[in-house]
Amino acid sequence: MSTSTPFSSINLSSSLQENLTSLGYHTMTDIQAQTLPEILAGKDVIGQGKTGSGKTAAFALGLLHNLRVKRFRVQALVVCPTRELADQVAVEIRKLARAIHNIKVLTLCGGAPMGPQIGSLEHGAHIVVGTPGRIEEHLRKGRLCLDEVNTFVLDEADRMLEMGFEEALECIVSHCPEQRQNLLFSATYPAKIEQLVGHIMREPVKIEVVVQH
Ligand code: ADP
Ligand code: MG
Repeated sequence: MSTSTPFSSINLSSSLQENLTSLGYHTMTDIQAQTLPEILAGKDVIGQGKTGSGKTAAFALGLLHNLRVKRFRVQALVVCPTRELADQVAVEIRKLARAIHNIKVLTLCGGAPMGPQIGSLEHGAHIVVGTPGRIEEHLRKGRLCLDEVNTFVLDEADRMLEMGFEEALECIVSHCPEQRQNLLFSATYPAKIEQLVGHIMREPVKIEVVVQH
């Protein structure tokens, strides 16, 4: 799963590099080594790899690379199928962003009380991580603005389709700027994903990491 390619071989800021070292992340996993050069080059990327292969850091480093901290607007949106996954992704992003001061990551998930989410939205954030239904609800009520999103991430896209989130995802995407980078990660790649990819992504590079037996 792990390659011998160091993170220092890719074009990340020195603060992100130093933080990776302090976290004990020295070499990239296969999926990171294959997707990160394309992601940092600004391409739309589909990454397929099994659970535990390190997909979160691949897209998290990509969105942090695109982020302007001084601009306190939502610049990255990560959509996950469940609250548990969204919470895990938010923890990983906060860990990787630790070296960058004052980055605000907000989670917006169904099943969590509305009041605190509305309050947090009034304060603002750089990065939103959440589940489709709740994000859509905040959009429809005009509480969430995605006009400055430069990175749109779909995590666990296969599970999102199983759960019937296509319509919510299309609504969310329609609130994002046309000009944006799209990243889609998934453990499996069912035929149904193609339709979603066709609607959301632009000439994506597809990277599949297969397990060697
Ligand atoms: P996936 O989303 O593919 O299922 P995760 O992103 O959750 O996998 O990563 C699995 C675990 O591997 C996490 O605990 C994460 O902190 C760790 N990890 C990811 N990339 C690296 C790396 N390059 N070096 C060391 N640990 C890593
Ligand atoms: Mg994952």
